Amino acid sequence: MTFLLCRHCLGWVEPIQHRCALCGEMIDLSDPDPSPDVLTERMGFFEERMGAVQLLRNELPQIGHWYRATKGFLFLPHELRNVVDEETNWKPQSSVGDWWSLIKSMMPQAALIDWLTHRFNENHWNDALLTPPEIDTQTPQLLARLLMRHPGVLFIEHTTISQYRNRKRNWTLYRSPARTIHLRVLGEWREFQERMESTLKFTHPGSAPVEML
Ligand SMILES: [Zn+2]
Repeated sequence: MTFLLCRHCLGWVEPIQHRCALCGEMIDLSDPDPSPDVLTERMGFFEERMGAVQLLRNELPQIGHWYRATKGFLFLPHELRNVVDEETNWKPQSSVGDWWSLIKSMMPQAALIDWLTHRFNENHWNDALLTPPEIDTQTPQLLARLLMRHPGVLFIEHTTISQYRNRKRNWTLYRSPARTIHLRVLGEWREFQERMESTLKFTHPGSAPVEML
């Protein structure tokens, strides 16, 4: 099982018949990965951590941290807590096939965190359950490096968000043409809500909140 970075939507995917499973664009296996410069141009710069979230998805880690960047939102799986502290030699790795064994080795922890989340959610959630990773915001091309470290990392460009829905701790980000993102805030949701709304309104005025059903 091999994950590739789709250069169209910046999602890590397993191509289906040479197409991205998230945005449907063609993926040419012989294309090199986007350069750190190209990624930095599209992702912008790191701004702040907004909180712990659970992404509703099946194939990759769900629990992690949600960050705001100048050009989008970044999801960093909890399992990568020390990723930036490690020695990072730039190597395009998206065509390397051992990602899956890496993910599988991390699943037990993800499952455990999932269980903890359900047990301690709502009023009993404690941010200490998920210690945020230490991130050196001075690292050059930080977002590009984070994205290329692991297929569980997700970046959502502001320009792809067409609409969003929010009800308390539940968020849905509709993207065009990429797949819709559903996420659930695990900690304090009111402050998260304020910051998300101000970011979405400020950075992409064309997006519009719609009532949750
Ligand atoms: Zn794609």
